[in-house]
Amino acid sequence: MGTDNEVSREASSESVSLTPAQRETLELIRLPSDQRITHDPALRPQLHLELEAATEDLVDLIDKPLWISKRQLQAVNSCEALYEAQQLEPFEWRIPMTRGQIFHKCVELSIHLFPARTAPELVDEALSSIINRGDGLADFLSSLSDIERAEIRSDVSSLLQTFFDTFPPLKKAWRPTTELPRKAILHKGKIVLQGRFDLTIGQPDESTAGRVLVELKTGRAVPHHLDDLRFYALLETLVVGVPPALLASFYVDAGRVQVEHVDESLLQSAVKRTAHGIERLLHLRLKKSRPEVRPSASCRWCPISAECAPGRAWLEDANGEGAW
Ligand code: SF4
Repeated sequence: MGTDNEVSREASSESVSLTPAQRETLELIRLPSDQRITHDPALRPQLHLELEAATEDLVDLIDKPLWISKRQLQAVNSCEALYEAQQLEPFEWRIPMTRGQIFHKCVELSIHLFPARTAPELVDEALSSIINRGDGLADFLSSLSDIERAEIRSDVSSLLQTFFDTFPPLKKAWRPTTELPRKAILHKGKIVLQGRFDLTIGQPDESTAGRVLVELKTGRAVPHHLDDLRFYALLETLVVGVPPALLASFYVDAGRVQVEHVDESLLQSAVKRTAHGIERLLHLRLKKSRPEVRPSASCRWCPISAECAPGRAWLEDANGEGAW
C-alpha cells in the first residue's frame, strides 16, 4: 500500500511526462503534507449535534424519513416553487443527461481495467456495462436509434480524451475511488443526508486531513458547485470524522480545476446552509409554509414558468422585452 510519501514520490517522478495541463492540475490538487490540517476528533460529534439541534423542533412531526442530497439542498436554496414542481414531475432521461453518466462510468473503468483502454474502447465498455444493468438509463439507451447512440459515443469519447490530456493519470498508490457513497443519519434515521463522490484521491492519516474530493463536471461552471462540494465536505466529516483536505471541481471541457481548502469555518458555513435547507424541506413537507418564489436563470427551463408571474417578469427582463 502506498504512503503519502510514496504518493508524492510517484507524482514527482511522473511529472516529467505530464502535459502542462496535467502538471497544473496535479499541482493544484496535491496538498503538501506540511499544509494538511490535523482536526480535533470531537469535530464529528459536535457537527452532528449542531445539525440535530437546528431541526429538533420539527422532526417529530414527519412520519417518513427525509432523504436529502446536494440536489434537494440546491433546489430549496434557490426557488422553492420550482423544487415543489419538480417533486411532482416524473423523472425522464434525456440525451444530454446521459453524457455525464457514461463519462463517469468511463473514468471508473479507466482506474480498474487492465490493460489500459483507449477513450473509444472505454466508452464502448461503459455503454455495454450500463445497458447490461437493466435500469432506467439502460432502457433509455436501448430505446435510442443507432445514430443517436453513435453521437453519444462520439461526444463522450472526445470528452474522455480531453480528461486524459488534462487530468494526471490516476495511480493506484493515490488510492483513487469513484462513486464513493456516504450517508449521515440524523435523528435516528428520520433525516438522512446522502451523497456519492465522483472521484476521491488520497485518504486521512488518523485525524489529519488527506483526502481530496473531486467533482467531474461535464457542463459549465455554476456558483452552486462550490456549495455542493462544501456539503460533501460536511458529509465526509460526519461519516469519517476527518474533513477532506481539498475540494476540487474539475471542468472537463476546459481541462481546468477550481480548488478550495477545507477548514472549520468552511464546515460551519456548510452546517448553516444544510440546517437551513433541512428546516425549509421540513416546512414544505409539513405544509407549514408556502414555497418561496425566487426567479433566476432556472426560470428558463422551469416546468411551471407559464403560470408563474414573477418568473415570467424575470424572463421578459432577461430577454430584453421588459417595459422602460
Ligand atoms: S418560473 Fe422561476 S420563479 Fe417561477 S417557479 Fe419557476 S423557477 Fe421559480
